[in-house]
Amino acid sequence: MNNHAAHAQAAHSPAALTAALPSYLDPQHLGPWGIYLQQVDRVTPYLGTLARWVDTLKRPKRTLIVDVPIHLDDGTVAHFEGYRVQHNTSRGPGKGGVRFHQNVTLSEVMALSAWMSIKNAAVNVPYGGAKGGIRVDPRQLSMGELERMTRRYTSEIGLIIGPSKDIPAPDVNTNEQIMAWMMDTYSMNEGATATGVVTGKPIDLGGSLGRREATGRGVFTVGVQAAQRIGMDVSQARVAVQGFGNVGGIAGKLFAQAGARVVAVQDHGGTVCREAGLDVPTLLAHVAQHGTVAGFAGAEVLDDDAFWSVPCDILIPAALEQQITEHNAHRIQARLVIEGANGPTTPQADDILNDRGILVVPDVIANAGGVTVSYFEWVQDFSSFFWSEDEINARLVRIMQEAFAAVCQVADDHRVSLRTATFIVACKRILHARDLRGLYP
Ligand code: GLU
Repeated sequence: MNNHAAHAQAAHSPAALTAALPSYLDPQHLGPWGIYLQQVDRVTPYLGTLARWVDTLKRPKRTLIVDVPIHLDDGTVAHFEGYRVQHNTSRGPGKGGVRFHQNVTLSEVMALSAWMSIKNAAVNVPYGGAKGGIRVDPRQLSMGELERMTRRYTSEIGLIIGPSKDIPAPDVNTNEQIMAWMMDTYSMNEGATATGVVTGKPIDLGGSLGRREATGRGVFTVGVQAAQRIGMDVSQARVAVQGFGNVGGIAGKLFAQAGARVVAVQDHGGTVCREAGLDVPTLLAHVAQHGTVAGFAGAEVLDDDAFWSVPCDILIPAALEQQITEHNAHRIQARLVIEGANGPTTPQADDILNDRGILVVPDVIANAGGVTVSYFEWVQDFSSFFWSEDEINARLVRIMQEAFAAVCQVADDHRVSLRTATFIVACKRILHARDLRGLYP
């Protein structure tokens, strides 16, 4: 066969045309993106005729890798690797956070962007999914270096972000101040203040009341409903939390206020426990001062690995990905796992927990409270009209409860896990939009 014939034959073979993976990923080391692909494969049989569009979900729409050079305080120049991935925009602009972490990879940002598409569709906010990150340990940078890095990164991804294109927000190790610098940098480049380009901003710059607590509040809201589903009384429950920042700290506080005992908390600095229940407000004050739960006087110290076997009823992983694995899933004592983090449970661990009858509320619904209030913030910025905190919290709770109830209904109808049910709801919404829009050209 000559080259021309080979080409003609390949051109008619969809299998040859649709490579299974983008060429920039190593099939042997798929990382978090590989986990996401497995999750999509699990729901494909439930998608009916929409399954013909499923490859849309298996490749990000747009992937940008940028070099971020900055002057360090000592006068030398350092280069960091930055990413912004827009996984899908069928239902609206890209939306999702930016994380600063030394282990950030393209595969991770791709998976996180895809989980944002699923999350946004699951709670039915009019966004696609996106995510960004810089491979850096921000704790090693001075305030000035952090600002310069944030601004240069924003300028580099400025090509593809914007209030109606893609709207970043806080994630791991990024906060309101970083959002203020991002908003300012984008606005300077545009020549006009554009508050709606990021969410999670300070209140005085168009931020929303309730945004800081929103993810933790959403975790608590669906957690209470999930507890009801298995006949658990939250006011009597023992709770273990991994990660005590914006998500785990707030969720822990709300569970404690509801009468639950927070018996163990782990973060990057160590693990503390107290069977009678930790004093959560005092622990939060300790974390605010020292940056970690380690060294907290009102608790015993626990070995990090022992955290996973702590006797508890509810476990809230609210730190990083791949924390619950086949190595510790057998030991988990909880009856309910609420995923505050993105991707904390590996697929093998997910199966183990399901087989053991432990109810897992997946990240893509459990932690959707943050982006839900990000949506409120964006709407408020567009209309320049700001709502009260009560109004925001009431709307947040309503959206979370309705979305969770819809997911439970699908889980019962198809006898599938809550994760698969959430993916069914979300993938159908995304692919229905894809189908209605059709292909251009
Ligand atoms: N980073 C958060 C998440 O993973 C919030 C994203 C947003 O508000 O856009 O859901």
